[in-house]
Amino acid sequence: MLNLVIIGYGGMGRHHAKDLISQTRHVQCVGAYDTDPDNLEKAGLDGFIMYQTFETVLDDDGVDAILIATPNDYHEYIAIQALQAGKHVICEKPVTLTAASLERIMVVAKAMERTFMVHQNRRWDDDYLIIRNIYENQEIGDVFHIESRIHGGNGIPGDWRCEAVHGGGMVYDWGVHVFDQLLMMIKSPVISVSSDLSFVLGHDSDDGFVTQLIFENGIRAHIEVATTNFITLPRWYVKGLTGTAVIHDWNRNGEMVLLRANVDHVPPKPIRAGAGFTKTMAPLREASLERKPLPEPLVLDTTFYDNFAAVVAGTAMPYVANDEVMRVMVLLETVFEAFETQQTIHTHI
Ligand code: NAD
Repeated sequence: MLNLVIIGYGGMGRHHAKDLISQTRHVQCVGAYDTDPDNLEKAGLDGFIMYQTFETVLDDDGVDAILIATPNDYHEYIAIQALQAGKHVICEKPVTLTAASLERIMVVAKAMERTFMVHQNRRWDDDYLIIRNIYENQEIGDVFHIESRIHGGNGIPGDWRCEAVHGGGMVYDWGVHVFDQLLMMIKSPVISVSSDLSFVLGHDSDDGFVTQLIFENGIRAHIEVATTNFITLPRWYVKGLTGTAVIHDWNRNGEMVLLRANVDHVPPKPIRAGAGFTKTMAPLREASLERKPLPEPLVLDTTFYDNFAAVVAGTAMPYVANDEVMRVMVLLETVFEAFETQQTIHTHI
């Protein structure tokens, strides 16, 4: 059983303490440290040791591991201090603000022979694991186009998430999840990145973005995160050579529509459309189509915390590997570069 202390007992720190760590028998939360006395008090009320300083956590030999759930700009400092003190470290996403910053952490983790793992929890999302099932099992034929959208209408909640100095903005907040998902699914390098960031809410960090990726194997991905949508578009829209899949929401509502095999496909008849006629865009006959429910999500055989404990024990490889996280960080930097230069960046990530 690993004793873990949470650094940053805010929204996500509490979620780990109450909902996530309880999923494993190999890690227990024993305490917390927070610079905000009110949030530290909440840890006490939840039954955990209230550490009054970060140094007292590091000095406590009974602490095996820490979880970093502070604003993003503190992650590197806290991670390096904890690793140097001999603690294993779990870090919330985005791991850091730059690839170089992650590199510095990885060097210390290696030198200290401690485990450092990033909580890329959306690798476990059901909607994503359904799309992976469709993709890997060619449920709609060879996939050639993927649209992944996160749409909300609340603006950016909270203080630090609006502020660039703390690593605010949606590229860091949600981009890091949706890019990670695609890089894990499509086993091919990204060769082209174009990107536009939105600042309509007037913060100094982005309130959303649109990015186009081209992978070396030809797949195109359109990624969109926005906080200003009072009407939302589907979470996933995926096109394969023989079908289309849609997932509308987090509740897995959606379907696949396939072109029926062995059916005499009658050529489309022109239809009236708006102020004109079209044959190209005439709807397909229902008889040509097969509507299917979404398949089940792929099953992952470990939880994040079970895997972390096994990695610490030396009995498993990390399910979230640091070189995978590094690839996402390089992609985030390229997304920013494509926006700042207003150029399509030709790359090999
Ligand atoms: P939050 O503002 O609710 O909580 C952050 C806490 O950190 C606050 O209580 C604050 O007082 C404390 N803090 C600030 N500086 C500190 C320091 N130097 N030492 C100790 N405590 C400090 O933010 P949050 O929503 O909990 O986000 C925290 C982290 O979790 C961020 O990195 C965020 O991106 C990540 N997060 C991840 C997910 C996910 O799904 N993986 C979801 C939400 C947030």
